[in-house]
Order: sequence, then C-alpha cells, then structure tokens
Amino acid sequence: MADEREVLVEVKNLEVTYGSGRKAYKAVKNANFTIYKGETFGLVGESGSGKTTIGRAIMRILPTSGGEVFYKGQKINGKISHALDKQVIKEIQMIFQDPQSSLNERAKVGYIVGEGLMNVRPDLSAAERDEKVRQALLDVGLLPEFASRFPHEFSGGQRQRIGIARALIVEPEFIIADEPISALDMSIRAQVLNLLRHMQKERGITYLFIAHDLSVMRYISDRIAVIHKGDIVELADAEELVTHALHPYTRSLLSAIPMPSPRRERQKKLLVYDPSMHDYSAEAPQWRELRPRHWVLCSASEAEDWCRES
Ligand code: ADP
Ligand code: MG
Repeated sequence: MADEREVLVEVKNLEVTYGSGRKAYKAVKNANFTIYKGETFGLVGESGSGKTTIGRAIMRILPTSGGEVFYKGQKINGKISHALDKQVIKEIQMIFQDPQSSLNERAKVGYIVGEGLMNVRPDLSAAERDEKVRQALLDVGLLPEFASRFPHEFSGGQRQRIGIARALIVEPEFIIADEPISALDMSIRAQVLNLLRHMQKERGITYLFIAHDLSVMRYISDRIAVIHKGDIVELADAEELVTHALHPYTRSLLSAIPMPSPRRERQKKLLVYDPSMHDYSAEAPQWRELRPRHWVLCSASEAEDWCRES
C-alpha cells in the first residue's frame, strides 16, 4: 500500500500568489498532496492551471503565500537554514519544458552540465568535474565530446538530454520534470521517457511529472493529481483515475485522449467541462475520499451524485 511507503514530499494547503494588492493573482489556491519515495507522481491540467507554479514553489524558485512544503519531514518553504537550503539545492532538481530556451546559449555544454557541481561538490578538482560531466553525458546517451560544443549545435531531443544530464549530475533524489517531452518531436518522446524511467530504476529517483494531457501520463505515473485553474480537483492511483474518474473536469480530459485507431477516434465523444455546473453557493467544495485512496474536490451532494453515476 502506498500509504505505508516513505513520504518524500508533502504539500499542505499550498497557495501561490503572483503580484500584490489589487493586482494579486492566486495561481495556486489550496493544493494538498503527498509524494512517496521512488514513485512517479503525475500532475496534469490544461495550460495556465498552475502546474509550473507548483513545481517552482517546491523548488523554492517562487515564494509561497500560504501553506507548507515538507521535504523529508522538514519544512522547506519560507525561511530555512543555510544547511537545509544546501541540501535542497542538491537533492531537488528540475527539468524544464522547453529545451530551446532553458540552456545558456553562450556557455559550452560541458559548463552547462557541470555548473551545478561547483555548488554542490566544491571539493572536486576541475579534472574530476570534467570526468563527471563526461560520465553524465554518456549516461543520457550523448557523446562526451559534446562537452566542448555549444547548445545551438544540437537538436531538441539532444538539448533535452543535456538538460537531463545537468539535473542528474548532482545525484538528486527528487526531480520535478515540467512537461519534459511536450516540446519534442513525437519520434523522440519515447526515447526521452525511457531515459527518465531507466534513471528512476537505476537510482531510485522520485519524480513529480508535469503534463498537460493524460495520454502519456496514465502510463508513466503511479498516482495522478488533476489541477484546474489553481485547484487540485482529483487525485488517485493512475489506473483508478483513468477507469473511475469522478470529477467532470477529469472526465473531460480523459475524453480528449487520442484514440489508437481512426475508427475509434471518429467515434470518440468529447466531454466539455463547464465549471458553472457546480453550485457551490450553499456549500463550499471539500477534499473528500470518495473511493479508497481516491480524492475529489466536491460538495456533499456532488459526492453522492458522482458516486451513484460511476
Ligand atoms: P501551467 O504550468 O499549468 O501552464 P503556470 O503555473 O505557468 O501554469 O501559470 C498559472 C497561472 O499563473 C496562469 O494564469 C499564468 O498566467 C499565471 N502566471 C504564471 N507566471 C506568472 C508571473 N510571473 N506573473 C503573473 N502571473 C503568472
Ligand atoms: Mg507550465
């Protein structure tokens, strides 16, 4: 049972606000989830729903305006000690969505990949660092000679491998992969996914895997959380979520998954989600466990209706 596994990350009532005063915009409203060691936790929702904001808040790139983030039981949002900050920088890494814009164009690949080591492993000599860069490039299926070249010489898939090498070189325990294959050609998406999965097997890495649709997510995630406009609306084991989705927004995402055959694609019925279907005037929605380990944001009457229909 997942609940008996070791908790790595816990997000409690997380709120993230951009701007302040009258311009304040709450991009994440009240996010709650736990990530267990060694699992792939999927976070899915349409563009602008707050996925990257959550990832960046956990990474401490963005300040939080409410709630708490725990890593190995220690609170890591807000003010933390220097020692904990160092630990978090080493153990939590991010892989970015767009390999075209996330690499420093003026730096050589070797510098980009090895940069993190200067912070995390100041004990290493330049030669030892070069050796680690060499190995990191090999690990992600690139030639060590690439270290002396510049990012613009590489394809999208190769650039994403460079980004992965940069994250892996510091031997992180937890990686936030923010739509790591969305910007890549179809033909190389599977390669990059396989690489990430291989690294997880080999090194026991835990992933927060962010995507905007469920088509790939359902196969790579152990559990999935669905986010809509800053609210997490549903969370369950991947198989459970796909086969017993209860929230209408999750159902609409599921109905949009491309079908394997043209015939089934033509017969597909798209469900459109209209948030005005919820009447929360009398009762605010609550986070409820409607099936075992399956949480949904809903009112009491919705809980009753959705369970009956499913
Ligand atoms: P996602 O990753 O799911 O596409 P984001 O987390 O990037 O969504 O954005 C969530 C919301 O926050 C969006 O409405 C976006 O416009 C807004 N947002 C993102 N970054 C900023 C920013 N730096 N300043 C103001 N609003 C932002
Ligand atoms: Mg994003």
